[in-house]
Amino acid sequence: MPTPDEVDLAGLIVRAISIAGVQTCIEVPSWRLCFDIGKAPETAVRYPRVFFTHGHVDHVGGVAHHCGTRAMRKTGPPVYVIGEEHREGLEAVLEGFRKLDRSALPCSVVGVAPGDVVELSGKKRVRAFRSQHRVPTLGYALEEDRHVLRPELAGVPGNEIAAARARGEDVREVRTAVELAFCGDTTIDVLEDPLVQASRRLVLEVTFLDEAVSRERSRATGHVHLDDVVERAHLLQHEAILFTHFSHRYSAGQIVDLLDRRLPESLRSRVQPLLAGFR
Ligand SMILES: [Zn+2]
Repeated sequence: MPTPDEVDLAGLIVRAISIAGVQTCIEVPSWRLCFDIGKAPETAVRYPRVFFTHGHVDHVGGVAHHCGTRAMRKTGPPVYVIGEEHREGLEAVLEGFRKLDRSALPCSVVGVAPGDVVELSGKKRVRAFRSQHRVPTLGYALEEDRHVLRPELAGVPGNEIAAARARGEDVREVRTAVELAFCGDTTIDVLEDPLVQASRRLVLEVTFLDEAVSRERSRATGHVHLDDVVERAHLLQHEAILFTHFSHRYSAGQIVDLLDRRLPESLRSRVQPLLAGFR
C-alpha cells in the first residue's frame, strides 16, 4: 500500500495521499486532525478528529479501520464530523461494523452544515463551507485567532506601547487567520467562496489534466480540470497550494509536465502536486 507524502505548505506540514476513485486522506499533524479517510494510513490513526467531505467510498472507506484501531490501542474515542445529510449513513456503517466486530467501536458522529464551526481550542477551530460535487459535499477551513498590535499603534515606539500597556490599555486585538482550506471533491466554483479566497494555503483537487477527459465531462462529474485552473488562475492567490486527487490515468511524470507547461509561472511556483502513490 502506498504511503502518504509529507508536504511543507508555507511552514504547515501536511501528510497526504489522494488518488481519484482510490483513496484520499489529508493529515494535519500540528492540528491533530485529518480530512477524509478512504483507506486509513497507519499515521492517520493517531488523530482523534476526522472531517469527512462527503460519502464516496474513496473518502470514507477507512473509517471502520480508523475507529477499530483506536479502540484496540485505547487511544480515545474519535470524533467524526460530516455533512448533516450524511450523518445517518455514517452512523449506520459504524453500527454495521459493531455487529460484525462484536465490539462497541466508541466514537461520536457530528453532523454539520456550511458555516458551522467545530471548536478545537480557545484559538483554533474548523469551519465548514459548501463545495460543489455531484453529491452534497463540504470543504473545511482551519481558522486560528492571533493577538496582533492594534493597527492604529503601528509605528508607535515600543516604550510608548509598553507604557500604554502598563496603564492597563488594551494594545492588541484578535485577528482570525484562515490557515488552510481543504475543498474536498469539487468543481472550480469553490474558489469563489470568500473563505477559500481568504485562506493562506489551499488544498484543491485537480482530477483531470488534459483532453483524455473533457472539461465538460469533468464538470459533470463534479471535478476540477486543469483548464478550469488556467482560466481562473487569478483566484489562486494563496501563499502555498497543494493540487491533489489526480486521476490514476496519469503518471507522476505526466502530472509534473502538464503543470509545468500549462500554469503561468507566478502560479506554478506556489503549486505542489501530491504524487504519493503515482507511478
Ligand atoms: Zn467524490
